[in-house]
Parts: sequence; C-alpha cells; structure tokens
Amino acid sequence: MILFVAVVIVVAVLLFTLGIREKDLPEPEPVSPVQHLEEKKTRIYENLRDLNFEYRVGKLSDDDYQRTKGGLQQELAGVLAEMDQILQAAPPAALPVKSEPEKPAHSCPHCQAAFDRPMKFCGNCGKAIGGKK
Ligand SMILES: [Zn+2]
Repeated sequence: MILFVAVVIVVAVLLFTLGIREKDLPEPEPVSPVQHLEEKKTRIYENLRDLNFEYRVGKLSDDDYQRTKGGLQQELAGVLAEMDQILQAAPPAALPVKSEPEKPAHSCPHCQAAFDRPMKFCGNCGKAIGGKK
C-alpha cells in the first residue's frame, strides 16, 4: 500500500512537472525582435531561388511558376512590412545609430593630425601634445 501511494505520488509529481514544463516554457526568446522574420525572409528567398531553378530546368509550367512566385512575393512583402513596423517601434541596439561623424579621440593641437590613442608628442609634427584637462 505504501509503495502504491509512493508510486502514485511520484507519477503525480512527474505529470505535474511535465505539465508545467510544457505550459511555462515558451519558445526561446529570439535574439532580435525581428529574428524570426529574418529567418522567414531567408526561407522565402530560398524558396524563390528553388522556384526559379525548377522553372529554368522545366519542372514547372508558366502558370505554376507565376502563381507560386506571386504567392512567395506577397508573403515576402508581408514579412518585410512587419519587420519595418517592428524596427520602427523599437530599433534594435545592434543597428548602428547614425550620429554625427566620429571625431578622432586625440589630435594634435598644432597640426591637427589625428591619433586613435593619446600621445605625448605628435608623430606628425613632433611637437608636444598636452593632454585634456
Ligand atoms: Zn602635430
């Protein structure tokens, strides 16, 4: 009897755990908000490529080709529009934000030569460069 109860409890716990896992573990978060769309877009491009290939080798009739191509292009347009919408709402940090042209961090006050690191003396004109205070 005790064994039976123990088995029932174990099974119940297992079912409970599995049930929770299925419910509470969503799809892994996409890295980018448009990642899944990017993948969709890539897939559509691949399909278009395959389609063009099959058409070229004569596997598809004109009708089939045009119809399938039209469908894929429509799908692609939808994906692109969705991506635009998402990107406009929340530009991903990965996209470089265009700002004013980058100024070199260090430059010689005498000849304006630019350096990417602080220098005591200018490598161009040889004069001493005072650090910023
Ligand atoms: Zn200089």
